[in-house]
This record gives sequence, structure tokens and C-alpha cells, in this order.
Amino acid sequence: MTRRFVWFAFSVLFVSGVTLGQIADAPPSPPPDERFKADILIVVAHPDDETMVTGYLAKAIFDEHKRVAVVFGTRGDGGGNAMGYEQAASLGAEREIEGRRALESFGVMNVWFLGAPDTPGQDVLRSLETWNHGSALAQTVRIMRLTRPQVVLTWLPGYVAGENHDDHQAAGVIATEAFDLAGDPTAFPEQVSAPRDRSSISNLTEGLHPWQPQKIYYFTDASHTGFLEGKGPQYSTKAASPSRHVPYYRLAAEEMSFHLTQSDTGQMAKEALAKGDFHYFEEPVRLILGKSLVKCAPTDDIFEGTVQGPIPFRSVRGYRPEAVQGVSLELGGPWAFYREFWRAHGIENLAALLPVPEVAIGAGETLYVPLVVRNDSDLPKTVKLTAVLPPGWTERAGSARYPVSAHDLYPAQVVLAAPAGVKPAWYELTWKAESDGQPAGSVTLKVQLASGGLPQ
Ligand SMILES: [Zn+2]
Repeated sequence: MTRRFVWFAFSVLFVSGVTLGQIADAPPSPPPDERFKADILIVVAHPDDETMVTGYLAKAIFDEHKRVAVVFGTRGDGGGNAMGYEQAASLGAEREIEGRRALESFGVMNVWFLGAPDTPGQDVLRSLETWNHGSALAQTVRIMRLTRPQVVLTWLPGYVAGENHDDHQAAGVIATEAFDLAGDPTAFPEQVSAPRDRSSISNLTEGLHPWQPQKIYYFTDASHTGFLEGKGPQYSTKAASPSRHVPYYRLAAEEMSFHLTQSDTGQMAKEALAKGDFHYFEEPVRLILGKSLVKCAPTDDIFEGTVQGPIPFRSVRGYRPEAVQGVSLELGGPWAFYREFWRAHGIENLAALLPVPEVAIGAGETLYVPLVVRNDSDLPKTVKLTAVLPPGWTERAGSARYPVSAHDLYPAQVVLAAPAGVKPAWYELTWKAESDGQPAGSVTLKVQLASGGLPQ
């Protein structure tokens, strides 16, 4: 061994602290990055969706000093453009900036886009498909763990008569799933495993911490709001902000006015500000309490009962099949999904919001109703399906005799033509199943014929 090598070996031992009788102090372990901490995480589908709650956010941000972060599922690349010819990806590029500028005006800088395509329609299952559900969920869980919110605000995961945008519903479904997964270290475990050496490359994993949010609230684009009464807090926008000295509705209009490609939000807000007519913005912000893991009443303030630090993970019951006997009839598609989704995620209270399922379409349009004919008996059955329709409705498909194997189901697709040239109104449509000459269940759907809805 040369003298030079001995000196080298000694230096290595000394510098690394491995000298006889001593042990080095490990460097401090850095906490989660405070720059990304949020009190409220908003999970929505399109730039301008946040305007559903800006009348409340003005108060929370300017007067209560709450930190807010936002996830947009899409860049809003569908729909018309009130400013120019830019469409599709170009429109999305514009709307991302509109959304960022609008939120920046409220001091909200932590804004993420999931990159899903804008999918106009009413069937949540279609949006979950086009959004690449698993990937969108993984990213939402990641952002929930990064921002560590007490409260999540998102769209209602439910089928309503109104705009009922399937992307809105998808945002609500994914936010609910993320709420229940972000605190579970076995969900997307690569996100919560410590990196090998954070100061260098090839670190293998992401180094976040599991996080259990405390409350989740929903808002809706339903055409009617009576069913929201008493289901969550409502925030008047008419009070003046103590720090800004103008009513919250004016602050909400200013935020909305950044979305100028959108005629029904940005352009409307621009006009309201020019005319000083804010009647649209004077509507309260209406929320529905989905669930709370801390003690509070449904209509309490959204921060009532919340604690600053982490709370323990709370597992949900998950899917459990229910025992069904004989032949039965159910609404299928998104309605069937929600029935199980609410139970699986501990938000059964949403089932009581609209006891009779509903949908809205335009007069003269086609209505699609997925039905499920079930046979939970040990014998094959022939099930007769008939429709009871109000005057003016025409059935194109649906009524028939359906062969259903034992312990199987038959997905029947009902297609109806709604009456044309009628005034906006509600209709009640019923389907009846009959097996072995006996009634075997029925399904009723309320249909609102109105203008301005999305295609089903
Ligand atoms: Zn939207």
C-alpha cells in the first residue's frame, strides 16, 4: 500500500464520518413542500368550471386567507369560440391560458391540467373512457398528495336534468375516487415510496406522502336547484368583501371575465361588468356535502370541524354485490354505475337527492335509455318489456321479448323520439317487465324537454 493510498483511504473514512467511536448525524428530513399546500383542492373538467364556486372562493381567498389549488381534467378544447376561429387543440391552448390568468387574478397559481380530451355529452362512462380513467385518477391522486387539502370541491357525480356534462361528472367521480385513495399507501405506491437519493438522478420513486382529505363537497350543473336545499352550505355572494370593499359577486364576475372564448361565461361577465348588471352573479354558491371524516353538520361552513394536520386514513366499504332474486328490471348505463358507486364510496346520501332518476334533452331529439333485464333465477326466462309513454313520444326500439339465460342479464337499449315543437316541460316515462305472465318490475324516468342541453 503506498503512502498516498493510505492517506486517501483515511480521508474517505474521515469525511464520511466513519471514524472509530463516532457516528455521523443524518441530514434533516425535509417536510412536504409548503409552496404546494392547499386548504381547498378544486377538481373540475374545463377552464371556467371553477366559476361555479368563485363567489365563495373570493371570500375564502381574500378574507379568510385560504390556499387554493385547481385540477382541470381537460383544456376545454371542445365547444364554440366567442373570440375567433381557433378550434380544437388551438382552442384548448387558449383556454388553458384563460384558466391560468383567471385563477391568477385570485392569487391561485397551483393549477394542473390532466390533458384529457373535452368530450361533450351526458354519459359519464364515455368521458371516463376518453379521459383514460386510470391515468387521470393516478394524476389526481398525485396532486391530492402534493397539495394535501383539507377540503375537496368538485362536480356532482350524478346524472341530472340540466347541462349534465359527462366531463363534469367524470371530474366528480375521479375526485371522489382520489379522496378515498390518496391516503392509502397501497394505491399508486410508486408515488409514496421515498426516493433513493433525492439530490441525484435515477431515484426510482416519487417521495410523496399519503394524504387523507377531510371533506368532499359537490356542486352541480342541474337546471333546477330545489333538491340542493339543506344538503350543504350555501354562500351568498351579496356581502361586501372586507378586504376588497366590493361584493363577492363582482369579484366572481371579474374572475369569470378572463374566459373570453366562452360566450356563456367570459363574454357574459364582460358584459355584466360593462353594464354594472350582476343579477346572474347574485345567485348563491350552492354546495352538497358528499362526506365528512370530521364532525360537522351538512350545512356548516366547509371548514367546520377540520383540523390543520393529517388525519388517519379512512377506508371505504367498496363494491359489494347485492343479492337479487328472480327476474328484475333496472336502469343501466350511468344510472346503474352511480347506484353502486355511491354505496361503494360512502356517499349513499347522493341517492336521496333525486329519488326518481331524471334526464334532459331538447324537444324533437332522440332519447337513449339503457335498461338491464336481470334473471337471477336458476331457469332461462323470456321477459316481455313494454313502455308506457306520454302522448307525442315515439318508440323506435325497446319493447320486445328478451331471452335471458339463468343468472344472466340482457342489456336492452331503448330509443325514443321526443315530441318536437313543444314548450319546455317534464314528462314521466315508464317501462314494465313481465315474466311467466307475472309483473317482474318497472322503471320510471323523468325527462325534461328543454333547450340548450348536450347530446346524450
Ligand atoms: Zn365545463
